[in-house]
Amino acid sequence: MSPPPKKITQSQPVGYRGRFAPSPTGPLHAGSLVAALGSWLDARKNEGQWLLRIEDIDTPRCTPGAAIQIQQQLLACGLHWDEEPTYQTDRLQHYQKALERLNELKQIYACACSRQTILNTLAAHGIEPARNQEMIYPGSCRPEKSELGYADLTKPKIAWRLALPQNCMIYFEDLALGTQSQNLTKEVGDFVLRRSDGLFTYQLAVVVDDAEQGVTHIVRSEDLLSNTARQIYLQDLLGYQHPQYRHLPLVLDDHGEKLSKQTSATQIQTETEQQSLAELRKAAKHLGLRDLPDGSNVTIAEWLFAATQAWGNRTNKATG
Ligand code: GLU
Repeated sequence: MSPPPKKITQSQPVGYRGRFAPSPTGPLHAGSLVAALGSWLDARKNEGQWLLRIEDIDTPRCTPGAAIQIQQQLLACGLHWDEEPTYQTDRLQHYQKALERLNELKQIYACACSRQTILNTLAAHGIEPARNQEMIYPGSCRPEKSELGYADLTKPKIAWRLALPQNCMIYFEDLALGTQSQNLTKEVGDFVLRRSDGLFTYQLAVVVDDAEQGVTHIVRSEDLLSNTARQIYLQDLLGYQHPQYRHLPLVLDDHGEKLSKQTSATQIQTETEQQSLAELRKAAKHLGLRDLPDGSNVTIAEWLFAATQAWGNRTNKATG
């Protein structure tokens, strides 16, 4: 018999709590500064708190020194956070607890498929995922629903997947983009919560962190939009409240690709106040803020004050 469900502690949100959650795979680039500035402005305009969470859960992808460099860049841009930064690698027991809870709810199963096995199975069904496209797990290791049970989480070298119900449609309101929907079963498939190398995945960690940190508003880049339905479904299973979402327009490079370490995005320049202001102005322009001081006669604090007003006017207009 499975043990009785444990209650997961969740801090009660008081007022607005936003966050910036960079993965320390490299220093901030123009794209990540847009997410930092957008989330900071939204928090400040709402007189809320802005938290910094270093998402270093995928340790092999992290770059030594990047977390510190990101903090230095944020400070150079005047983007101060309100609580001690958190690091996901310090919070592994929280993710383990959430996984155990999902296990008690009989929502997960072990999967021994390698990437290649999945690709082969999909190919046998005539499906070839395009480059950068997610593989929809064909369910090879999934037990019949009636056999989903309390599993032994200590099994080594095994991934743990969430068993989605049939036709799991998720709808949500994005504050910038309006009503969004995704059929998780058809468009994503049973997704991984802990990988076979033992690492918890972003999906699980982000949901646990946002809930336990009492985050009420998530303002982040649009490339994360397609993850949101998964996160909402996990929030439901774990009994967490749903934060509000606002996805910001992506910054693309000259080839129309998302800026990232993989596309060798160059880091923002923040050695001098003038450089930081120039980077902030570029980010603000991308966010659609108009009529801001040109940066020649203002301090960063003055410029950020003007940007916060402009953000308020812009979102008021956008939301009527
Ligand atoms: N760590 C993620 C990234 O850097 C962002 C996560 C989030 O904002 O939900 O892309």
